[in-house]
Amino acid sequence: HDGLGRCSGCGIALQTEHPELPGYTPIKALDRDPVICQRCFRIKNYSEASSVTVDQDEFLKLLSKIGDKDALVIHIVDLFDFEGSLISALQRFVGNNPVLLAVNKTDLLPKVTNWNKVRNWVQQQAKAQGLRTVDVVLCSAKQNQGFDYLLEAVNLHRGDRDVYVVGATNVGKSTLINRLIRDYSDLEQELTTSRYPGTTLDMVHIPLDDGASIIDTPGIVYPWRYSELVSRRDLQAIMPDKPLKPSVYQLNSGQSLFIGGLARFDFIEGEHQSFTLYTNNTLKIHRTKLEKADELFENHAGELLSPPTREGLEELPEWTRHDIRISKGSRSDVFISGLGWIKVNGQTGALVAVHAPRGVRVMVRPSLI
Ligand code: GDP
Repeated sequence: HDGLGRCSGCGIALQTEHPELPGYTPIKALDRDPVICQRCFRIKNYSEASSVTVDQDEFLKLLSKIGDKDALVIHIVDLFDFEGSLISALQRFVGNNPVLLAVNKTDLLPKVTNWNKVRNWVQQQAKAQGLRTVDVVLCSAKQNQGFDYLLEAVNLHRGDRDVYVVGATNVGKSTLINRLIRDYSDLEQELTTSRYPGTTLDMVHIPLDDGASIIDTPGIVYPWRYSELVSRRDLQAIMPDKPLKPSVYQLNSGQSLFIGGLARFDFIEGEHQSFTLYTNNTLKIHRTKLEKADELFENHAGELLSPPTREGLEELPEWTRHDIRISKGSRSDVFISGLGWIKVNGQTGALVAVHAPRGVRVMVRPSLI
């Protein structure tokens, strides 16, 4: 990489192969003088931040540096993939700095949602993961909802400190940062990028009136999210962009549901009951007998059962099976990171299983809604 030199904006080693990674520049832009990476180019010319991504190790290195500062940390998570996008190691690394949890993509939940209940749920789940938060803000960067409250909370908690924005990939961090750029800074001062000492990461600084900055950090890639495994095309198929329309299935034990060809849900044991699927509305759900499910997948994956396409399927790890016992009287979701969740409506308990590519996080949680 060093062969191409460094970005004169942020100092990062330039590369021309991976648009989503730090230091990317299109080949033709190498002729420019001075040479800057695409990200710095966009920031300088369009006042627009775009996301770069890093792996966990590099991200943790960066986080530990934030722990040495006196700062407010905004942690953005995706409400559609809450457990998948929550940075559970955050508390260990930010030291005594306060964490403001911004829960993005509220527009994806049905319009008639009890938001107080969602907020309590978020608080409890975050706490269970060991994360202490000074505040929880529900917002939609896309629909511009919750922003007044977010800005108020930022002002309240930052004092005169810098603000670091951290999050996993695809949680809407750039969308939110770009809102902040528009709403917050007067833009008379220039946006700048800088390289963080001791890391290979570059970050965007958004100047605030009092000399402090909002600092955007790279998005962390978590390998357990389905959204990180699929192709770009299939990503569009699994990531909802409209409010979820939950679909209810009355099942007897011995029945299975295919979510496209992406995952399979088996109802193995329990009384007749209903299950509610919260997945992207465009995904086709296919109901079948449990005993026929293996064969169906064998013969029709990538066609009747799609996405993924046949080619996409070959790129994915083999399926593995998660057996899950839902205890009596509990209100639970069977959660598949990046793909959505299945709410178990019955209160009589059930034995279920999820088949999904190895590595995708599958777990039970208290019902979100
Ligand atoms: P980043 O990787 O965290 O910087 O995320 P981006 O800002 O690039 O957004 C990732 C994806 O999520 C894009 O497809 C956005 O359109 C989408 N997105 C961002 N904010 C929202 C939101 O509030 N609601 C919904 N439904 N989608 C959002």
